[in-house]
Amino acid sequence: MAQADVIVVGAGLAGAAAALKLAKAGRRVKLIEARERCGGRAFSKPYRGEGPLLEYGGAWITPWHHRLRALVAEHGLTLRPRHEVTNRLWLRGGVLHADGAAAPQDVTAHERAIARVAADAILLKKGITDNERGERLTGITFRDYLDRLQCPKATRDVFSAWWTVSGNGDHGLIAASEFLASCSYDNGLAEGMIRFWSDTVVPGMGVLAQRMIEASGAELVLSEPVTGVAQANDGVWVSAGDRRHGARACVMALGLNQLKAIHFTPALPPAKQEAIARGHGGCSFKLWIRAEGVSPGTLVTGSGSGIEFAFAERRADDGSTLIVAFGLMQEANRPGEPSWVKEQVAMLFPNARVLSHDWHDWVDDPFARGTWVAAPAGHEAGLDAANWQPEGRIAFASSDHAREQAGWFEGAVIAGEDAAGALLGIS
Ligand SMILES: Cc1cc2nc3c(=O)[nH]c(=O)nc-3n(C[C@H](O)[C@H](O)[C@H](O)COP(=O)(O)OP(=O)(O)OC[C@H]3O[C@@H](n4cnc5c(N)ncnc54)[C@H](O)[C@@H]3O)c2cc1C
Repeated sequence: MAQADVIVVGAGLAGAAAALKLAKAGRRVKLIEARERCGGRAFSKPYRGEGPLLEYGGAWITPWHHRLRALVAEHGLTLRPRHEVTNRLWLRGGVLHADGAAAPQDVTAHERAIARVAADAILLKKGITDNERGERLTGITFRDYLDRLQCPKATRDVFSAWWTVSGNGDHGLIAASEFLASCSYDNGLAEGMIRFWSDTVVPGMGVLAQRMIEASGAELVLSEPVTGVAQANDGVWVSAGDRRHGARACVMALGLNQLKAIHFTPALPPAKQEAIARGHGGCSFKLWIRAEGVSPGTLVTGSGSGIEFAFAERRADDGSTLIVAFGLMQEANRPGEPSWVKEQVAMLFPNARVLSHDWHDWVDDPFARGTWVAAPAGHEAGLDAANWQPEGRIAFASSDHAREQAGWFEGAVIAGEDAAGALLGIS
């Protein structure tokens, strides 16, 4: 039945890494992708259609993302260090402050909350899930965790801002551990997360995915959304509407929320089905804003709603500044509306003149259905790599459930290579 040795479904970083590893091991690979482009949540395109590429999906890699760094070098791309944070401002009571997150009367309570978060983050890093206050750090929502901290509003606001770039989901749904794990990069300090977003790929992460796929020599089928996967004794059939593709084995390189669209025959075991049905809740928005009157290197956090995190990331070619901004996709927020974005920027950068903005709506995107992985509190096991071992001739690869660096590009590469390795014996 085989038209290829292995079919890889999904041309994101995980699918690209799987295709490359399989091809290097001598397998004939067919790569089937729903979109008309490769890269998935790595999406590099010019700002509003003009100029150099910008990252509309993921962007930053850390110093310990060794597989990605090796791939960047192997495929002839380079790295650009992130602009240093040269100016840190906090929005408090509608006014910008440069002297810290908390008002003088709140500084002690603020520092106490920071120390508690740091202690919990370090516990979690050591694999200890219960803190000294008897809280289970992996089972508690971010909202409950903050409520129990009993910290000043300003402290809560600043944690909420860092949440938009870590836990990135409904405060009442997503596990506090998503935030604490990111705090643990820098001795437990939320403020330190950005220190480790050290580089972006030039010209773009999407280009890396494309080059990896080209190097694999895989037969690439674009604009073909897969709807079903069926296993037979000697192989798999992958269907996309009324078209069928056969192979000896298959890598499903789809994110957790994307697997909802796939019908498996035979059905997947209950633990996988439950994880797919629940999905993950990653739902930040990421905006690129072009503005005048803002110095690159300025980092501003907001007051618990709207745009909560904004970093003046670099100068654009025309001398204006590109600000990257995050908030949560919630009803009150309207990241697609220029007037709303202008209102938000006016609070965070009072001297700025907004020229335009651009973004991609990942939550509404049918082939993403969310941003980066955010585990619902109490259901982290569904996202554990142990739950995503192969089923017969089908292996699963996604950053969402990678055994290491889940949620990052690095996790996608690790998961893709793991899945390819698992199929070498039967393909
Ligand atoms: C806004 C944003 C910011 C982020 N920031 C960072 C960051 O700074 N650093 C970092 O490391 N990571 C970041 N991430 C996360 C990173 O982008 C992802 O972890 C990674 O790209 C996921 O790769 P993947 O291959 O596992 O999944 P995906 O990239 O989602 O790949 C899945 C592929 O499958 C395709 N597909 C979906 N459904 C079907 C179907 N039915 N049939 C066929 N194909 C299908 C999709 O189109 C896609 O190409 C960010 C993500 C977002 C959205």
